[in-house]
Amino acid sequence: MEAIIIAVVMMLVLGALLGLGLGIADKYLQVEVDERIETVTSMLPNYNCGSCGYAGCSGLAEALVTGEVSVVGTCRPCKADQKEKIAEYLNTTPGPDGTCVKVKA
Ligand code: SF4
Repeated sequence: MEAIIIAVVMMLVLGALLGLGLGIADKYLQVEVDERIETVTSMLPNYNCGSCGYAGCSGLAEALVTGEVSVVGTCRPCKADQKEKIAEYLNTTPGPDGTCVKVKA
């Protein structure tokens, strides 16, 4: 009986320590994600054809948000009105640092 109690206590202590470790890791190792990347990805055609030179639409979205690409028209399948919407969104929506990127449709 004593062995079972010791095993249960050990499991409780181990669970508490692992939970504490995960809590600390979550607080200090958190990666800040720019929400604009997800938004622009959802605004692109999502064909993931790769003709823009990126592996998928999320790659071009990240390049647009970081300023690596400054023309939404890099995505050839994207319709003109959608390109305008993406450009307007990026030109008017600041990122986590408070600045907007300047892109053309
Ligand atoms: S060209 Fe457009 S549709 Fe094709 S992967 Fe690039 S962003 Fe997506």
